[in-house]
Formats: sequence, structure tokens, C-alpha cells
Amino acid sequence: METIIETKNLTRAYGKLKALDGVDLKVERGEWISVLGPSGSGKSTLLHLLAGLEPPTSGSIRVAGKDLGALGPDELAELRRDRIGLVFQQFYLIPYLSAVENVMMSQYFHSMSDEGQAMDALRKVGLSDRARHLPSELSGGEQQRLCIARAVVNEPEIVLADEPTGNLDEESQDRVMDLLRELHGEGRTLILVTHDAEIGRMGERRIYLNHGRQVEVHTAHQEMEEMFEDEILEALWKSDEDGIEKIDSILRHVIGSKELVARLRKSGFLQPKPEMVLTEIGRKRARALVRRHRLAEKLFLETFEVDRDQMQSSACQFEHILAADVVNHICAFLGHPEVCPHGKAIPKGECCGLNGPTGTRD
Ligand code: ADP
Repeated sequence: METIIETKNLTRAYGKLKALDGVDLKVERGEWISVLGPSGSGKSTLLHLLAGLEPPTSGSIRVAGKDLGALGPDELAELRRDRIGLVFQQFYLIPYLSAVENVMMSQYFHSMSDEGQAMDALRKVGLSDRARHLPSELSGGEQQRLCIARAVVNEPEIVLADEPTGNLDEESQDRVMDLLRELHGEGRTLILVTHDAEIGRMGERRIYLNHGRQVEVHTAHQEMEEMFEDEILEALWKSDEDGIEKIDSILRHVIGSKELVARLRKSGFLQPKPEMVLTEIGRKRARALVRRHRLAEKLFLETFEVDRDQMQSSACQFEHILAADVVNHICAFLGHPEVCPHGKAIPKGECCGLNGPTGTRD
């Protein structure tokens, strides 16, 4: 793996306010990173610094092997032109040039204007029939796609996108995301700023900013592992109900994995020795998962009347994301049901009037 972007202790202050505060980031070539965080957390500032559009107050940035701090304005512009495609929310399109001319303008800075190539870029984003229109004659989604055409016409290795789907309707959002996914598929490095968790999840790695500080890095892989651990805990809970032989054969196979067992023990979910027995904490977590899953099944099947297959898959997703108080609301809404659509017992919660150590406090 080759590191294409690296920041060390990256800080940008505006007066007393630290828009970015000591961010260490390493990006490998071809990675897709989502930068998430509330408004004002420093996401755009990070992109501006990575693009060399403004200098850091302290710390360093290396992009494609170059230390940005050591480059003058011309060299920074050259780096941007040759290596970086910018897709920013404020479109920065030139209002008196047509769509194809806007793309050609970007080529011009690259010292070669080629209308055929510019038209190819427009075709790629589905705008060939809008080539002669001015930006003001295009919809928000079309303007954003024009920005993508302009950003990629010079085949940049790195694409920096700042809220590329902000203010777009759902269909335009999907088109823009398809285009970005395609760019990533071609091997480009993509750094995408968004406040939308769903779009953020599309990245291979997520960086969360809060008050300019990096608070958490989550990989899709880690999340998968955590979800998988939950599956195991649930399977163990169900094995108490139905016996181990009723557990799905794949899960039964991995239950033998030493690494997985070690991880579950380390998290305090499994008893130290010898066989697969849940601890009190493990039982509590498993119980909460089973409760969420079965309540979600009941809600989907009986209230939303989705079919059984869909009920199953939706419940599998919802059991990982429902917050405890939402679960209690669902339970109350359904009248604190005793059994799920499969006839299995739904563990009681606090909302059902159950207290004490066996109650769910998930
Ligand atoms: P985000 O993109 O997460 O919404 P920004 O990076 O735009 O956040 O801003 C981070 C903080 O820095 C905000 O408090 C913002 O007001 C401040 N800020 C950004 N740019 C400037 C600037 N040019 N001058 C002064 N303050 C700024």
C-alpha cells in the first residue's frame, strides 16, 4: 500500500478558534474515506488544507509525496491541476461559460483544451445534451454533475468532494454517488465530506471530526466484525432456547474460532473457561439484541405488512441500530407483545414493567 496523503498534527486556527486541531491522517492510494461531523466541526477546512487552498497554522501535509508547506503558490496550483479533482458544494462554475466551456476551462489550466475530451466527460456524467447550456440553466443536480465532469477531465488521482450531495433531490443524489463510486472503482483516492451518515457509510473508512478534533476512526471491517460478534451472541442466546443443533451451520462453524472466542472473552461477553457460556453482560447484550430483532420483526410484519423475507432482513439490520428508548416505544406501540411472528418469546424490557437485573437496560 502506498500512502498518498499524510497529515501530522494538522492545525488551522482562525484567531482563537481552532477550526482544525491536531489531525493525524494517513490515506492510502485508492482508498475511499468519509469525513463526518456536525456543522462547523472542521470538515471543509480539512479539505481546503488538503487541496493546498489555504495553509495550516501548524503541522504538516504531504500529498503524492510532496510536502505542501515547501511549495510556493505556483507549485501548489500545479499539484492541484495535475493530481487533484475538486468537487465542492459551492459549484464555482463560471456563469458566462457553457457547460462544455466550463469543462474546457479546467483543461485550459492544464494547458490543453480538447472539446472532444470535454464532451466525453460530459457524456460520462449524463450531460451531453446540456453541453451548450449556461450553469444558471442547469438544475442543482446537473450543476453538481458538471463539477464532477470538470474535476475529472484531467484524470486526477485524488478526488476531494465537499458535501457533493448537499441540497440535491434523491435521484440526483443517487446519480452523483454512482459517479463518485465509479471514480473510486477506477482506482482514484476519494475523500468525501458529508454530514449524511448513510452516504458516510459508503466509504471504506470513516473519520469523525468534532470541534476540529478527530474523535473516532471506524473501518467498515471493524463494524462488520462487531455485527458478527452480535450474531454470535444472539446464536448463543437462541441455543439456550432451541439447543445448539438449531444454530445456523455457518455460525456453528465459526463458534469454534479461537480468535473470535478470545475477542468475545476480552469484551467480557463470554465466561473465561471452558465452553461457550455467556457472562451476565453477554446475556444482557444478547437479550437486548434478540428483543430488538423480534420486536422489529413484529413491527415490520404486522404494522407495515412487509413480506416475511423482507421482515427477516430488515429486522437483521434494525437490531444493530435501534436505540434503547426507540425499542421501548416500539414495544409499547405493539402492546408489549409476548411472542414474535415465529412464535418465540420476546424478552421483556423495562417498558413492560420489568425491573431488576434480568430486565433489559440495553
Ligand atoms: P464544517 O465543514 O465541518 O461545517 P468548517 O471547516 O467550514 O466546518 O468550519 C470549522 C470552523 O471554522 C467553524 O467554526 C467556522 O466558522 C470556522 N471557519 C471556517 N473558515 C473560516 C474563516 N475563513 N474565517 C473564520 N472562521 C472560519
